[in-house]
This record gives sequence, structure tokens and C-alpha cells, in this order.
Amino acid sequence: MTVRDLIDPAAAATAGEDMWKLMAELYPVCRSITGAGFRATLDVLARHVDLDVHEVPSGTRAFDWTVPREWNIADAYVENAAGERVIDFRRSNLHVMSYSVPVDARMPLSELRAHLHTLPEQPDWIPYRTSYYADNWGFCLSQRQLDALPDGEYHVVVDSVLGEGSLAWGECLVPGATTDGATTDGATTDGATTDEVLVSCHACHPSLCNDNLSGVVLATFLAKALAAASPRLSYRFLFIPGTIWSIVWLSRNEATLDRIKAGLVLACVGDPGHLTYKRSRRGDAEIDRAVASVLATRGAPYDVADFSPYGYDERQFCSPGFDLPVGCLNRTPHGQFPEYHTSADDLDLVRPEHLADSYGACLEVMRVLEENATFVNQNPKCEPQLGKRGLYGAVGGRSDTVQVQLAMLWVLNLSDGGHSLLDVAERSGLPFGVLADAAQALATAGLLVER
Ligand SMILES: [Zn+2]
Repeated sequence: MTVRDLIDPAAAATAGEDMWKLMAELYPVCRSITGAGFRATLDVLARHVDLDVHEVPSGTRAFDWTVPREWNIADAYVENAAGERVIDFRRSNLHVMSYSVPVDARMPLSELRAHLHTLPEQPDWIPYRTSYYADNWGFCLSQRQLDALPDGEYHVVVDSVLGEGSLAWGECLVPGATTDGATTDGATTDGATTDEVLVSCHACHPSLCNDNLSGVVLATFLAKALAAASPRLSYRFLFIPGTIWSIVWLSRNEATLDRIKAGLVLACVGDPGHLTYKRSRRGDAEIDRAVASVLATRGAPYDVADFSPYGYDERQFCSPGFDLPVGCLNRTPHGQFPEYHTSADDLDLVRPEHLADSYGACLEVMRVLEENATFVNQNPKCEPQLGKRGLYGAVGGRSDTVQVQLAMLWVLNLSDGGHSLLDVAERSGLPFGVLADAAQALATAGLLVER
């Protein structure tokens, strides 16, 4: 099986259902950038993919950053005078600001208010808040919950531990094809070929689905599918705490970054919005062109945006000292859907069909990366006679027969050794997959030779 064989709408629909189920399993876990919840998430993912789990201790330096202390939480609540929990971590892990320091205190509502976070414009939703790098504590609740709290004294408990520990992350390498039992040129000690595709997602949010369990389950199922497909390129999947870990990872892999041929950061890939791609800082890297070509020929609305230094871990991968060819794939980008960083980013917002659509698009992009090649027309003086080679209308009755013929003509015409199949896709506006199939048929008939 190859990557092209993975592109199948029925298989994508099944993957969409399975991704959603995995997301539902991971949803209740209280994740943060460190701690037991992150490790528990990796344990679940390791049942699906071959995952290497690594840890670095708190205090480790990475460029201008330092790995923070590890945070773990057992319980947290605010109790009224009658001993009733009016805010309860056990009901939603979003109720506690991530990285809240331990507290056990009694205080009037007027004092407690400074530590309460709500969304007045969305009075039924609980906001998601963090305080990774400043010692603080807080509770998040709906505006309606807050409005219902009478004045009086409250008992506030955050049963957390913030101390020396470590930062965990998961890495899954799907090695590329080998020849004669050896890795291809530039083989590395871990068996990866030189050309590598990096797929990264942050896995550090608690009960939030689109941002970013959707990226986690999509990356997991892409890794699972590719592992069964004998890809030509190597694919390295990173399941990491946002920001800090991409910085740590880059600091530890600086010597081998030149093997990264393309990369995608996956985030917010399960909502009903259309696919949106943010280009790498380079703007014209193969990944930028591949995604744009795929999105333009899928027959669905889409957006392609230029790079900006705000967003997810592409900020680090595309920092000027690295400038890696890594773009970011979303459906609705962060901050542009009202449910973003609230309790409404839940299992209802992300649906299997949207995950399936994102999955299908990623596989099409990966096919471009796998199969983009430059050919030389062996019959360049006037068009070759396709009919006598069984290539003209060869697949009669296909609804895309005209497109297939057109694809052959485009491939023949531009295969002068100076244009890749992706060049042909861009110039013709035809789907890369149709052009790649045409190139294969022409090569089999002896009319094309790969340069
Ligand atoms: Zn987020």
C-alpha cells in the first residue's frame, strides 16, 4: 500500500468516527503543559501509535526559555457557608485556572471575586484560563453561576502541587521507504531518511475539543494510516505542550533540522468551518504550494493566509533562526470561533465528518509530498499518438475522462525536465492526484522518464 491508496472517502469517514471516539475518551482528562494529565493522554495515544515518550526536568534551559515546574491537581472547589460546592473541579476541569498554586482559605465574596473569571458576553460558558509563568490561583465559571452567588464567606480549596518535576512529550516516527534493506541516502541513526515531514500538535489543553484534541486525534490517525502505507518520506509526529515544548524540541534537534522537507502544525481541525491554511514564513515552500493546490481542487470553500508570527507552534518552527518550511492547517483559526477557549468548545462543536474532511485533505497533501517529481517527455516533437498506446479514452465511461485526457496533455507538454508535477498542477489548475495518475500511465507507456 502507498499513501495514494489511503485516499478513500469511505475510509476517511470511518476514520472520522474513530477520531471522534478517541477525542471523547480524552476529553475528561485534565491536561496542562506538564503533569499527570498530559502523561495519561500519551498513554492513551500509545495504544494507537508507536509513541516514544520523553521527559526533560524542570529548570532545563532552551534558548531564552526555562522548562517550568510540574503542576498536578487532585481537587479544587469553592464551598459556601452550608458546605455546598458552588464551584467544583470535579464537574469541569475548566473551573480551575491551569497552574493554580495550592490554596486553602476562607474569604468573603468581595475578596474572592479578584480570582474569578467569567465571560459576561457568553453567560453560560466557562472560560479557559492559565497562569503558567506567574504564581497565581483562580477559578473560572459561567457568568450566571457568579451572578447566583450571594455575598458571604466562602471556603476556597485548590489541592494542587507545583514543584520540581519534568515536562513530557510524545514523538512518533513513521520511517520512510528503504532500498536493499538499507535506509535511503542520508540515513540517520534512528532510521529516518533525510527527507522528513514534521507534523506537530499541542496536546496541553484540558477539556477542550477543537483547540486542540481535534489536532491530537487527527495526527494520531494520520500516523496510524501512514505506518500501514510504506511511505517514501519519513513522518515525525510530535504531541507536545504548546510553545515551551516546540522550543525545547528545536533546541535539542538543531543539528538535524535540515532533514525537515515539509511540516504541518495541526490545530482546530474539527469544527464546521472550511479549511484554512497559514503559509510558512517562506511563503513558497513545497508544503505551501502543495496545500494550496490541494485546497484549490477539492471543490470546497477554503482560505489560504500568509504567515504571521502569531498562532501555534509554527511561530517557533518559523522563527528566523530556523525558518523551517512548516505551515499551519486549521478549519476555523484560533480566536475566530466564539467557542474558542471556553467550555462550549466541546464534543458537539467537533463532528466526525469535519475530522474526516481534514484527514482526507492531509492525506492528499501528503500524496503531493510523496509523489511530486519531475519527468522528461520522451516524445517531445509534437504530441505522441495516445490512441495507439491505449491511453486515449483508456478508461471509458469515467466521469472524469475529459479531465484525465487533459491531465495527460498537460503532463506531456510541461515535462521538459524543468517542471515538477506540482508546477503542472499549479499551471493547469487540475488536481495533483489526476496529474500523478496520468504521469504514471504515461511512464508505463514509455512516454515519460523521471528526471
Ligand atoms: Zn489554545
